Amino acid sequence: MTSPDKVVIVGAGQAGLQTAEALRGMGYAGAITLLGAERCGPYHRPPLSKSWLAGEIAAEQLAMRSPDALERKGIALRTDAQAIGIDIGKRLVRLADGGALSYDALVLATGASPRMLDIPGRDATGVLALRSMEDAQAIAQRMALCAESNRPMVVVGGGFIGLEVAATARKKRIAVTVLEAAPRLLGRVLAPTLSEWYAQLHRWHGVNLVLNARIAAFETGADGQVCGVQMNDGTLLPAGLVIVGVGVQANDGLARAAGLACDRGIVVDACARTSNPYIFAAGDCTARSTSEGTLLRLESVQNAVEQGKSAAAAVMGQERPFAAAPWFWSDQYDIKLQIAGLSTGADRWETRGEPDSGSFSVYHYCGDRLLAVDSINDAREHLQARKRLDGEGT
Ligand SMILES: Cc1cc2nc3c(=O)[nH]c(=O)nc-3n(C[C@H](O)[C@H](O)[C@H](O)COP(=O)(O)OP(=O)(O)OC[C@H]3O[C@@H](n4cnc5c(N)ncnc54)[C@H](O)[C@@H]3O)c2cc1C
Repeated sequence: MTSPDKVVIVGAGQAGLQTAEALRGMGYAGAITLLGAERCGPYHRPPLSKSWLAGEIAAEQLAMRSPDALERKGIALRTDAQAIGIDIGKRLVRLADGGALSYDALVLATGASPRMLDIPGRDATGVLALRSMEDAQAIAQRMALCAESNRPMVVVGGGFIGLEVAATARKKRIAVTVLEAAPRLLGRVLAPTLSEWYAQLHRWHGVNLVLNARIAAFETGADGQVCGVQMNDGTLLPAGLVIVGVGVQANDGLARAAGLACDRGIVVDACARTSNPYIFAAGDCTARSTSEGTLLRLESVQNAVEQGKSAAAAVMGQERPFAAAPWFWSDQYDIKLQIAGLSTGADRWETRGEPDSGSFSVYHYCGDRLLAVDSINDAREHLQARKRLDGEGT
């Protein structure tokens, strides 16, 4: 593909903005249109479950770029502009308002949507998931009501988002129960010792933690508001707010409908190229094929940023494969967890530092090969571990 005149990016989030800015950074001089379905421009999502929900930062601090800054870079941001279809033959993106945009290169950066539970009461008012600013505002309002009326809340899912929201709710002295279906917290990503450490941390902060939890229904009052969670064993947990944090699914509907290869996400190579030569994809909406022939789904800021850069390079006809070790962080109470690498397949763990001191790292190995490192309030050790992982080409 020769350098395109018109690049359209669908999704004005972390990956979409990164792609647009990386294009300009690489000297791309053509038109860039950034389409966002939300009413506001690009913003940082991580604080939604942390400092923003805790009331420690204002909404303005979430914004990634001002409209002026985008304008100066010649990036045409269109908010409230949902893409509803791609005409591959005509190279057109169709919009919900009836309009259409032609492209020479198209980048899909549509993110992901929370999974919901298919159980009775799932549509009750006050059963909420957290992905967007709008979700976060609804949760904040409801949390304020719970705090005022001394009503408890229930978090379904002991993953990062659920646990961060639980920690934030405890800061506001709201009674919280976390229901986790698995036998341990964050079981897919953390070593068993760390899962136990987090369970203790949350219990110490007053969270009622239920592992191996089986939920039957969300109880709804006559007013349509959620009032509790019914467990399979007959227990009823009262709740003025239920947060469902049981993972996300990639927003790959547009790509699927257009016939692009998708498998739990838009399938891309290490350079963010899809199965169509004029279409690229980056961020949470993708499933990246690895050198081992597997597909990797990552949901993180680093992944969105790195793939955004790869996508920009690919649009310019250059190869910039995403090769860095994956990296993620989570803040709960005054604890910063940093994870580098992928721990899947680990058969041996080594702890450096003293867990009781609240600052330590867990190294995941498969035989002698370092796969990943999880650090608790241990930034220095973590940085070194990350360099080592990058060097080993994880
Ligand atoms: C509450 C929360 C806390 C998080 N905490 C962390 C953390 O601590 N560390 C970390 O690394 N990551 C964290 N993440 C994950 C991180 O925010 C995501 O991985 C990252 O935002 C992914 O970027 P993205 O551009 O792929 O998707 P998004 O940032 O979700 O952007 C996608 C955008 O595309 C838009 N869109 C979708 N479909 C269309 C369409 N058809 N037309 C137009 N626009 C469309 C969406 O409205 C959305 O604005 C967190 C996420 C959440 C929700």
